[in-house]
Amino acid sequence: MQTKFLLGENRIPTHWYNVIADLPAPPAPVLHPGTLQPVTPADMLPLFPPQLLEQEMSGERWIKIPDEVREIYKLWRPSPLIRAHRLERLLGTPAKIYFKYEGVSPAGSHKPNTAVPQAYYNKLAGTKRIASETGAGQWGSSIALACQMFGLECTIYMVRVSHGQKPYRRSMMQLWGAEVLASPSPRTNVGRAILARDPQNQGSLGIAISEAVEDAATHDDTKYALGSVLNHVCLHQTVIGLEAKEQMKEAGDYPDVVIACHGGGSNFAGMAFPFVADKAAGKQVRLLAVEPASCPTLTKGVYDFDFGDTARMAPVVKMHTLGHDFMPPGIHAGGLRYHGASPLVSQLLHHGIIEARAVGQLSCFEAAVTFARTEAIIPAPESSHAIRGAIDEALAAKAEGKPRTILFNLSGHGHVDMTAYDDYLSGKLVDYEYPAEKVKESLAHLPKVPA
Ligand SMILES: *Cc1c(COP(=O)(O)O)cnc(C)c1O
Repeated sequence: MQTKFLLGENRIPTHWYNVIADLPAPPAPVLHPGTLQPVTPADMLPLFPPQLLEQEMSGERWIKIPDEVREIYKLWRPSPLIRAHRLERLLGTPAKIYFKYEGVSPAGSHKPNTAVPQAYYNKLAGTKRIASETGAGQWGSSIALACQMFGLECTIYMVRVSHGQKPYRRSMMQLWGAEVLASPSPRTNVGRAILARDPQNQGSLGIAISEAVEDAATHDDTKYALGSVLNHVCLHQTVIGLEAKEQMKEAGDYPDVVIACHGGGSNFAGMAFPFVADKAAGKQVRLLAVEPASCPTLTKGVYDFDFGDTARMAPVVKMHTLGHDFMPPGIHAGGLRYHGASPLVSQLLHHGIIEARAVGQLSCFEAAVTFARTEAIIPAPESSHAIRGAIDEALAAKAEGKPRTILFNLSGHGHVDMTAYDDYLSGKLVDYEYPAEKVKESLAHLPKVPA
């Protein structure tokens, strides 16, 4: 019984897959946050290098991966596909469970898949420094290491609550050469204004994004980088699903359902989008995004235009959103606490091509512990949502007494998240209700976009 399905370095994909080519309708326009008119490349050039903007708007189905990027991908790609034999046996399910393991990257998650090309295109364009934000620290550490690979400076605005709770992520970023500031910080106008009103403000991803965008927009040699949500980020992540399809072939299987956790949508996009192409060609495959019940963007948000950040400096995009000033509770899966979702993931959900499900924090940690005790890998709290989804699918197959082939993305390991496991094991972790009132309040503040 084979467990690991490995590909040689020569099988690293040569092209990223662009799902826009297979959408049933063109994507909605991206709007300027001030005028609410469609943005022009000139609006975005202070923030992003031209090649990334081109990818952001491209309708080409296949986009070549530069050799310099594939060289760095070789440090950990292709990532393994693993059959979860022990988990299957424990569940007593007729289902087969496969997972793609992105925790083998140097930062321990899928995020370097996009950090590396983003740093590369910035280097090509003559950028000296990248300003970015990080919540739990996974993105910050990924962009820090990518900047280090290409000799760029890096400034990270880290959500204050995580800056305190996750000292080791901060150390990783510093080790890879980045400067790390607790956000809100005194470095930007946005940060200073928030601190003047509320010196104890614990920060949010939305605030940290505003700070990094302001930093990039006000310095000529500095550009901004985002670790999720945007089209080019989803594009870069498709190496995950493209490899997984090859590996499933080697296993002699094809998934009935493909599952990933959902924060801003990038690891879900990376795993699921290459299967959208199959679906567009008539194949039967379910694509399931699993999100936290405390930040239920896809299952309880509206599909409408909203700002990408709290300070309303980032572009306005059509997406599933809980409102740009929605402040999610401090759950341990910090990477899943964004108010919005990738416009591409949102559009696919809107067209019924993908599905979404929300799950509670405690049931995710229970799934993570079951996984660690069978498959031995300690999952990132974010990834535990995908595990919950996969276990529930396997149990549904058992209840029906029918086989089912399940493929999920294990987006990262939890080695730097052991405080979360300590809290779970000592019974300190709680479930949060769906914050209906807060969502309602926040949704009242969506921009009024002229039809
Ligand atoms: C950041 C992160 C996520 C969530 O981000 P997406 O853009 O939704 O993928 C999920 N898992 C891990 C391990 C992460 O670091």
